[in-house]
Amino acid sequence: MTPSWKESHGHLPVTIDPIQLAERGARLTGTLPLKSMPRLAQGSLEGSGDVNVDLAFEREEGQQVFVMHGTLRVPLRVTCQRCLETMELNLEAAPWLILTKSGARLEPQEGDADLLVADKPLSLSGLVEDELLLALPMVPMHAPDQCTVKVRAANVVRGAAPDRTERGRKNPFAVLDRLKKTK
Ligand SMILES: [Zn+2]
Repeated sequence: MTPSWKESHGHLPVTIDPIQLAERGARLTGTLPLKSMPRLAQGSLEGSGDVNVDLAFEREEGQQVFVMHGTLRVPLRVTCQRCLETMELNLEAAPWLILTKSGARLEPQEGDADLLVADKPLSLSGLVEDELLLALPMVPMHAPDQCTVKVRAANVVRGAAPDRTERGRKNPFAVLDRLKKTK
């Protein structure tokens, strides 16, 4: 089968057919301009910059199950909601989506994962934007030790700090594994 586009580095297709990509195990790496994602750009004080995209499309061995997973990263300038100073938020999303067609029947163990209905070619920037918006914190704030407004530890809203090295951060894949095991 001749690929309809090459695995690209830096030059990403505008539209993708996720299931077709998964059938041939494609990986897309490169950057997309933040400007191509108006909803996300709106949340940034600068509105420019690049979104780093690294997405793999796979077909699970011997099955009609297609997945898309990878990492999306973009540095955003946002306002800390505690001190109202500008801060750099390194937004990162690690999507893990089961690709499906509308009406397709899914195995029960796939029911816990997020689904992406891919009946027709999709806008890559729209897909990336949706995933990053899901990862965007509702209330961006400096880590307590970096904020100009000092807070007592007891006042720190759990999980609201953008410090990703913080203890207790959940690995999304670990969550997925756990969900699968409890079935
Ligand atoms: Zn702050």
